[in-house]
Amino acid sequence: MTGLQTKLLIGGKWVDGVEGGTIRVDNPYDGALLAEVAEATAADVDLAVEAARAAFPAWSALAAHERGRLLLKLADAIEADAANLARLEAMDTGHPIRDCLSLDVPRTVLCYRYFGGMADKLEGSVIPVDAGFLNYVEREAIGVVGAIVPWNFPLMFTSWKMGPALAAGNTIVIKPSEITPLSTLRIGELMQQVGIPDGVVNIVTGYGHTAGQRIAEHPGIGKVAFTGSTNTGRTIVHASASNLKKVQLELGGKGANIVFADANIPAAVGGAAFAIFHNQGQACIAGSRLIIHEDVVDDFLDRFATLARSIRLGDPLDPETEMGPLTSRLHQQRVLSYVEVAREQGGEIVTGGRQPDGEDYAKGCFVEPTIVRARPGDRVAQEEVFGPFVTVLTFRTDEEALAIANGTEYGLGAGLWTSDLTRAHRIARRLHAGMVWINCYKRVHPASPFGGMGQSGYGREMGFEAMREYTVPKSVWVNVDAQIPPFYRR
Ligand code: NAD
Repeated sequence: MTGLQTKLLIGGKWVDGVEGGTIRVDNPYDGALLAEVAEATAADVDLAVEAARAAFPAWSALAAHERGRLLLKLADAIEADAANLARLEAMDTGHPIRDCLSLDVPRTVLCYRYFGGMADKLEGSVIPVDAGFLNYVEREAIGVVGAIVPWNFPLMFTSWKMGPALAAGNTIVIKPSEITPLSTLRIGELMQQVGIPDGVVNIVTGYGHTAGQRIAEHPGIGKVAFTGSTNTGRTIVHASASNLKKVQLELGGKGANIVFADANIPAAVGGAAFAIFHNQGQACIAGSRLIIHEDVVDDFLDRFATLARSIRLGDPLDPETEMGPLTSRLHQQRVLSYVEVAREQGGEIVTGGRQPDGEDYAKGCFVEPTIVRARPGDRVAQEEVFGPFVTVLTFRTDEEALAIANGTEYGLGAGLWTSDLTRAHRIARRLHAGMVWINCYKRVHPASPFGGMGQSGYGREMGFEAMREYTVPKSVWVNVDAQIPPFYRR
């Protein structure tokens, strides 16, 4: 492709990496080279942090509504560039263009709009304290935020971090995944176009163990916001200890999706398919454990397997395609290896489990929509597969359903399908998950907090919670009418 931005954005300039290396970015559909982007190493992160620190005083002092205005302009610019960004994201990640146009891009626009509007709504508070004193609390920007993003939803996840961080007055050093850096670089261009000042956002495209590690340990960074795997999250917490920076972690998941016997089965079948097959199952909140009441499991699985087999796999750029390839060859092999893991532990492959046959799929990293029946303790019911691979488990009582649903180390998203309103809320209350969906699945909105419990991480993205995450409270005491305290009075 031509016309792509491939350099690092540091202090408002597009530059090569200090060490001069590049990273190859391939199209997962056909293996074609999309771009060679500059490889950022620790030295580039240092320069980016320096630029972000230099930009911080002016950016944080800018009137909040001015920061908001720039974010609103950015949202408009993204909207105007929707077709280009959607194409870029589809080619880089393998997302079907249909999804990029209807979900990824509009949700990214919505996110920048929400936080653009939020910039001047972040109020402090006045606290009732001792007589004669005024105590007020302001929320201050942290300083430089380091953001580390994975490859599954690069456009959206970048906005989830940059939106609130910038609205609150922070400056940023962001590292997209080395596998999918292209849409982030385009956002950098659009940021310049709308007039976001130099150094406010710096983009370093590098590998995790070098550039990512340096962000996590850098003494000039006040907070690191990370989305990625649980293991990398742990590494980041260790590295962050060097200057005790604030850490926010959005990690893995093993979403429970419970279907009760009184559920609207056709609706639940469609919802369960969206929960696991959208974006080839490469979603931290994917409904990867389908927990179905024994009375309805046969009927449900008949319909669900029929639907899974009918999903149109193909070129992400074809508007008819419903499922594209996985984002990399390595990841495709990892997902397929779980089919063997399931078999070895006595699991039954209901459908799928292979790279599809045919010339159309030969070069791409495809995996058929896969449904596996297993037991709650099996590896495929415990470990995050992160592909179009759903593990079906069954239950008889509500208590049993809850025990299975809560029986993993994760606690990110969970869903349930029932026509009994009381049961729905009772079960929702007892699910160990940061987000619960009743008769729907995987709904997200910039106004609603997003994040997990347990090994799924801590902190929240989006909503007003995000503004708290990207600021620190400062408590100010004023003596308005108090006697000097008796201590040490002479
Ligand atoms: P990953 O942890 O391998 O990589 C994520 C990012 O971290 C990448 O930018 C990578 O370069 C960087 N990184 C890797 N090693 C690093 C290190 N030592 N120090 C600093 N940075 C490092 O994850 P991935 O494979 O890109 O993404 C898939 C994972 O992300 C899944 O586990 C998924 O559940 C999780 N995820 C979580 C959420 C959420 O919101 N909870 C959302 C999407 C994805």
